[in-house]
Amino acid sequence: MNFTVNEIFFSIQGEGSRAGRPCLFIRLTGCPLRCVYCDTTYAYNEGDLRELQDVLDEVQATLGPPGKGPNAPFVEVTGGEPLAHPNAPALLQGLLDLGYEVALETAGSQDVSKVPRAVVKILDRKTPGSGEVDHWLESNLTYLTPGQDELKFVLCSETDYLWAKDWCETHGLLDTLDILFSPVWGSLDAAWLAERIVADHLPVRFQLQLHKLLWGPNRRGV
Ligand code: SF4
Repeated sequence: MNFTVNEIFFSIQGEGSRAGRPCLFIRLTGCPLRCVYCDTTYAYNEGDLRELQDVLDEVQATLGPPGKGPNAPFVEVTGGEPLAHPNAPALLQGLLDLGYEVALETAGSQDVSKVPRAVVKILDRKTPGSGEVDHWLESNLTYLTPGQDELKFVLCSETDYLWAKDWCETHGLLDTLDILFSPVWGSLDAAWLAERIVADHLPVRFQLQLHKLLWGPNRRGV
């Protein structure tokens, strides 16, 4: 069983409820979407074919045995769109079997039903401003576990903010899921978004991409 792997690197998680924690990223190649703000266009086609065991060996060689503390290094499978790989669930299960905490970042346009339950799923619900709002599988919502999984919105504008707010309210998600709102880097003013969330008393988590604050918007492998 093999995968096309764009890059594997150990860094700090820049987003989500695990922001700031040490994280080993496995970025798989390929994505069927073309978001206007995509910052990983290099992952559309670049990559090397790697065997599953080879990838697992690299993870173990880099991280060593799984840590036990609340901020122990964890593994995130990302992309591109990792679930565009039919074998992605096997990779996720292989990482779980090694004892690691495992997260998956997906745009939610691919079926998550085969993803092992213990994997932390971070679904990136595309907004109108992304240009890919229609690439969304509504049934994926039924596979999200409150208290574990996260729903993320990357917002391009006030129009996106209002759309995301309305979408969450219409779906009754604000009282159940961990919902994250973040601005598109260089497109939506972060302070405006933070102030708007406060003014609206919206129960969502504001987030910035820490890795871009630390190392700039274009650096790879961080
Ligand atoms: S889903 Fe992610 S990788 Fe794919 S085009 Fe959108 S931002 Fe880029």
